Amino acid sequence: MKSANSILSGYGTTVFEVMSQLARANDAVNLGQGFPDDRGPPDVLQAAADAVLDGPNQYPPMTGLPELRQAVAAHGRRFYGIEADWEREVLVTSGATEALASCLFGLIEPGDEVVLFDPLYDSYLPIVRRAGAIPKLVALSPPAWELPIDRLKAAFSDRTKLLLLNTPMNPAAKVFTREELAVIAGLLEKHDAYAVCDEVYEHIVFDGRRHESLITLPGMRDRCLKIGSAGKTFSLTGWKVGYVTAAPALLQPVMRAHQFLVFTTPPNLQKAVAHGLRSDVAYFDGLARGMEAKRDRLSTGLAKIGFGVLPCEGTYFVNADFRPLGFNGDDVEFCKHITTAAKVAAIPVSALYAEGSVKSYARFCFAKQDAVLDEAVARLGRHFGAAA
Ligand code: PMP
Ligand code: GLN
Repeated sequence: MKSANSILSGYGTTVFEVMSQLARANDAVNLGQGFPDDRGPPDVLQAAADAVLDGPNQYPPMTGLPELRQAVAAHGRRFYGIEADWEREVLVTSGATEALASCLFGLIEPGDEVVLFDPLYDSYLPIVRRAGAIPKLVALSPPAWELPIDRLKAAFSDRTKLLLLNTPMNPAAKVFTREELAVIAGLLEKHDAYAVCDEVYEHIVFDGRRHESLITLPGMRDRCLKIGSAGKTFSLTGWKVGYVTAAPALLQPVMRAHQFLVFTTPPNLQKAVAHGLRSDVAYFDGLARGMEAKRDRLSTGLAKIGFGVLPCEGTYFVNADFRPLGFNGDDVEFCKHITTAAKVAAIPVSALYAEGSVKSYARFCFAKQDAVLDEAVARLGRHFGAAA
């Protein structure tokens, strides 16, 4: 048999799938893969149900339903003051994953350099490499996840095509400040580069922080592609509806990639997401406050057991250092151990590092019912002999 593509076949099954399967096999509480376990906003679900029965159910326009593209543009204006022409500057995609792939395939020319922060969401590197780019990784490290400005500067060159930025950042739970974004903006201008901005957790930020979007910084409007995900914003991760906002010259090649990868996205779900994005601001506030309470509930529980719990500024995730528990092994062994022996699944943070030696943190997803979080903490507490 002739060999398959060597880049993609070098990767195994994603850690999210592996850990979810292990969780199912062990009847474990699954705090690994990031997905909420509530039903989602009833009005958005109803809008989808209506649109399944009443239509549209045939191929929608390749770039997305006009009403969703208008809603994305209106959402960008309402929350960030971004003025975007919905007809030329908004594209609907099949989730942020497809948005990322379409941006990367649309913009990268083989031999280009791409700057990425490590740790990173697992789809970035395979697609960057498959598109023919040379990755330039800049490591961030726990516990503070500070932006290493000198190393970031050193990663840029005149061959840099783009930077991939994820804020709020999975798995670091870091929210980039406007000052940090200004440093990045300066480098993009200096090297005439673009930024693909993965902002799927834009509405899941805590403690009175504001999500800052790089595209709103001076000089960045024509350099950034802003990606959002209805999966995260409406707690409906299976829906896979995403959206990209960018200047026409940047979005055009992305649309070319999109038309050959998926062409389009289920129209009934698009209709429901358009409804959701027009929700009152109270919905978006409620999402963040609800998640913040869950973060606190899980963090407190884990800390009582003895984990070294890191601060979490945004996303669904809290990272915990398990060394204080006296576990002898790395994070992959720890996560397998707690899934099989304590019946609670988590993700080893090292699985999301391309390089590096951080091996003592487990990532726990707190986007779960309170009773589920309490059960996970009780199980871990019993296992590690702590009265949580
Ligand atoms: N980017 C990040 C940082 C994520 O955590 C995720 C997944 N949840 C995605 C992209 C993919 O989003 P979607 O499900 O909309 O494809
Ligand atoms: N984004 C989710 C996480 O980080 C998982 C997405 C997936 O399973 N591909 O857990």
